[in-house]
Amino acid sequence: MHEAVDILSRYIRINTTNPPGNEAAGARFLADIFEREGIEYRTYESDPGRVSIRAVIHGSGAKEPLILLNHMDVVPADPAGFSFDPFGGDVRDGYVCGRGALDMKGIAVMQFMAFLALKRSGARPCRDLIFLATADEEEGGGKGGEFLLENHFDDFRAGVVLNEGGYGIAGMVPDRVAMLIAPAEKGPCWLRLTRRGVPGHGSAPHAQNALERMTRALGRLLAADLPVIITPTTAAYFRDLASVWKFLAPYAEDGRPETLARLLGESGLLGIPALNAMVRNTISLNMLASGSKINMIPDFAEAKLDIRLIPGQKVGDFISFVKETLADDEIMIEPILAADASASAIDTDDFIVLRDALQEHFPGSLVLLSLLSGFSDSRFFRERGIPVYGFCPIVITMDELSTIHGNDERISVGALARGCEVYEDVVRRLCK
Ligand SMILES: [Zn+2]
Repeated sequence: MHEAVDILSRYIRINTTNPPGNEAAGARFLADIFEREGIEYRTYESDPGRVSIRAVIHGSGAKEPLILLNHMDVVPADPAGFSFDPFGGDVRDGYVCGRGALDMKGIAVMQFMAFLALKRSGARPCRDLIFLATADEEEGGGKGGEFLLENHFDDFRAGVVLNEGGYGIAGMVPDRVAMLIAPAEKGPCWLRLTRRGVPGHGSAPHAQNALERMTRALGRLLAADLPVIITPTTAAYFRDLASVWKFLAPYAEDGRPETLARLLGESGLLGIPALNAMVRNTISLNMLASGSKINMIPDFAEAKLDIRLIPGQKVGDFISFVKETLADDEIMIEPILAADASASAIDTDDFIVLRDALQEHFPGSLVLLSLLSGFSDSRFFRERGIPVYGFCPIVITMDELSTIHGNDERISVGALARGCEVYEDVVRRLCK
């Protein structure tokens, strides 16, 4: 069996569902292998059981370190929705099966194999190569990435970081595989809204019903027309897509954001949620709580909004917009988690190595820059000026992609083996 398959199977069996995380067990698993291979490592415990681990192969120092970043925790898996044990790590029908197979223990194993390969080769890299597996990414990184960079920044200075976020996808564009690299991601702006009102008997409605006031204000906010915003990443994305999506030709010619916005609107593409999220700030009303009895007018209402901001948009400005649009001074707004979106430059030598490697290893594919609509540990590095690229050299189907945070998460043995091979080559190029 391919060594990577065996390691991934065993890694999936370590249940690191977050919450609670229990990444200490994952770190111990990795540490055992580092011990055997004679690799220097260190662990960091932010809270009991919440452990991150960093291993290093020292280089000549000609270049700033390269960090292979991954997270050990996974999102919960409901066994009822899976056709196999989500923590069984079974290999069946050519797939390694289980929670984390793609997000992101599978990718971590590709990084890990590339890391081991460099160590085993005995070559001295031009830069320190660091393997970093964090805790708590799926719950915002407070006990992982954020903790590490706030308290141990010296261990994590780097010239470039590779993280999850880019995949090769079959079926996204006609006849070709799209290989995505993600230099940017949107920023979360999660808000809690609360409003007080006046209680009363449901048989005599009055105008100070907290829930009615809240829903009316939310209606105004959700009806707001949010503009299409084109960033350098999305501009490049659609320019490259123009070679397969012919309706984008006028944009490929004039390069004007207004043209792109118009074409996206006319084509109906903005009706595709994932595409819409790439070019707009989005607001999703996901929680609403109020009232305790059908015949009592509630005097309190609470709503939680999941807002995601395009790079370049400021959290403070958007909160002002929310406040204005709600148009109800009695609604209190409190951020739960808010961070500006993050983007890395795409004209760096390291980025060009990544792009060229994808083009060479996947000939005929369309290499695209993408803006992630989710957020990851990347932001903690980008905030400190360190470039991070979402990069994963495998090709998966749209169907497989949907198993991330969904049911029956799995990775094909072929994709895993190929991913290890390409990752190893990329690390060699970046360390040469
Ligand atoms: Zn992930």
